[in-house]
Amino acid sequence: MTIFPFTEATSIQFQQPLPKTSDVVIIGGGVIGVSTALFLARRNVSVTLLEKGRIAAEQSSRNWGWIRQQGRDADELPIVIEAQRLWRQLAQECGEDIGLKQTGVTYLARTDKEMAGFAKFLEIAQAHGVDTRLLDQGELASLIPAMSRPFKGAMITPSDMRAEPWVAVPALARLAAREGVTIIENCAARMLDISAGRISGVWTEKGHIATSSVVVASGAWTSLFLRAHGISIPQLSVRATVAATAPMPEIHAGAAADERIAFRRRQDGGYTLASGGSSQLYIGPDAFRHAGKYFSALMANPFGTRYLPAAPRGYPDGWSTPRRWNADEESPFERMRVLNPAPETSALRTIDRGFRELFPQFTTVPLKASWAGMIDAMPDVVPIVDRAAAIPGLVIATGMSGHGFGIGPGMGRILSDLIQGNETGHNLHRFRQSRFSDGSPIRLGPSL
Ligand SMILES: Cc1cc2nc3c(=O)[nH]c(=O)nc-3n(C[C@H](O)[C@H](O)[C@H](O)COP(=O)(O)OP(=O)(O)OC[C@H]3O[C@@H](n4cnc5c(N)ncnc54)[C@H](O)[C@@H]3O)c2cc1C
Repeated sequence: MTIFPFTEATSIQFQQPLPKTSDVVIIGGGVIGVSTALFLARRNVSVTLLEKGRIAAEQSSRNWGWIRQQGRDADELPIVIEAQRLWRQLAQECGEDIGLKQTGVTYLARTDKEMAGFAKFLEIAQAHGVDTRLLDQGELASLIPAMSRPFKGAMITPSDMRAEPWVAVPALARLAAREGVTIIENCAARMLDISAGRISGVWTEKGHIATSSVVVASGAWTSLFLRAHGISIPQLSVRATVAATAPMPEIHAGAAADERIAFRRRQDGGYTLASGGSSQLYIGPDAFRHAGKYFSALMANPFGTRYLPAAPRGYPDGWSTPRRWNADEESPFERMRVLNPAPETSALRTIDRGFRELFPQFTTVPLKASWAGMIDAMPDVVPIVDRAAAIPGLVIATGMSGHGFGIGPGMGRILSDLIQGNETGHNLHRFRQSRFSDGSPIRLGPSL
C-alpha cells in the first residue's frame, strides 16, 4: 500500500541524468507540471521535469482527491469539463488503478442563504451542460441516510469524480516517463538563465540545462522563485489539515461537505476528512506586501483563516528565507525538499467532532493518519496561467487555490499548447498575470 502523503523519506523513483538541452523545462513535479510534461511529450517535444523533492510530495499528494466541476468559477468550468474527460482517458492509459470513480460531489446547506448561493452556480452549470441539481431535505436523506438532519437541502453534481492523489499523480508521472519525459527528482531549479532578455536555460543544483521555454509550476514556491527574477505575483500559501480514517462502513460513496466538515470515501474503504474552509496563514514579508489584494477575500470569509506570526524556518514566506541567491549556491528550494507542515491539532479536534455530529452512530472516529499541506492561494481564488510578459519563453502556472488536482490534466493540456504558442481552445483572460497590476478590480471566484 502507498504510504501517504509523501515526504523526504519516500524513495526516489525518477533520477535520470540532467540533459544538456531540452525543448521545454518544467519546474515542479505536482499534478500541473506532470500533466503539462505528458501532453508536451505527446507532441514530440523534448521535455525535462525538475522536482526539488519527490513527485507529488507537496499539494499533489496531500489533497482531498475531489475532481469536481461543482462550485467552479465560470471560466474554470470548461477547463475542468475537459479535465474530467482527460482523467477518464489517462486512467485507462496509466495501466494502474488510480481509484478514479464517478461518485458525485455534494454540498450540504444549513441555511436558505447557502441554498440561494447554490442556485446561482446551478445557472452556470446548466449553461455548460453539467448535471448539477439541487436536492431537498427528503432527497438528501435518501442520498446519505445515515447522516443527521440539520440541513435545508444540498447541491449535487453526480458526474463529479474522485481519485487517490498519491496514486494518481505518480502514475501520471510514470506514464509521462514512458512517453519520453525526462523526470529528475531531488533536483531544484535555482535560477532562470536569461540571455538577451529571454529564456536561454535553467540553472539547477545538478548543473545547467539549455532551453528556450520554461513552465514554472512550482506550487507554493512560485512567488519566491519568480520574485528573484523581478516578477511579483500576490501569491500566499495557507496551511490546511487533513485526516484519514481506517476502513469503516460505507456511509456515502462520494464526496460531501458543509462549511464545517468535508468527507470523501477512499479506495481503501476509509474516509478522508477535513474541516471545510478553515486554514492558517503564516505572516511573512509577502503577507504584508500583498495584504491589500486579499481584502475582498478577507471580507467574504472573515473567520475562515487564522493568522500565525511566523512560518517555520525555510518556508516560502519565512522571515529568514533568502529572497536572493546565486546560481552556484544552495537555494531555498533544495533546503526544503518537501514542504511538510504539521497538521493543526485544533483542526483535528474539529474534524473528529464534526464527523461524529454528522454521523452520531460513530462514537469514535478511527483516525489512522493526519497531515497538512500548504495551499498556493491567489487573492481572487483562481490561478495564473499565462505567458510572463517580462521574460519571453516563460509560462507561469500557479495559484490553483485549493482546487488544482481535479483540473490538473486540463490545465496540463492547455499549458502544453500555451508554451508552444498554439491556440489553447479556452479563454484564459481570467487567468492573466496582469490582472493584479493593470488596475483591474479583484473579482473573487466562488468560495463554494
Ligand atoms: C489539504 C488540501 C486539500 C486539497 N483538496 C483538493 C481537492 O480535493 N481537489 C482539488 O482539485 N484540489 C485540491 N487541493 C489543491 C491541489 O492539491 C493543488 O491545487 C494541486 O495539487 C496543485 O498542483 P501543482 O502542481 O500546482 O503544485 P504542487 O502539487 O504543490 O507541486 C509543486 C511542486 O513544485 C516543486 N518545486 C517548487 N519549487 C521548485 C524548484 N525551484 N525546483 C524544482 N521543484 C520545485 C515542489 O517540490 C512541488 O512538488 C487541495 C490542496 C490541499 C493542500
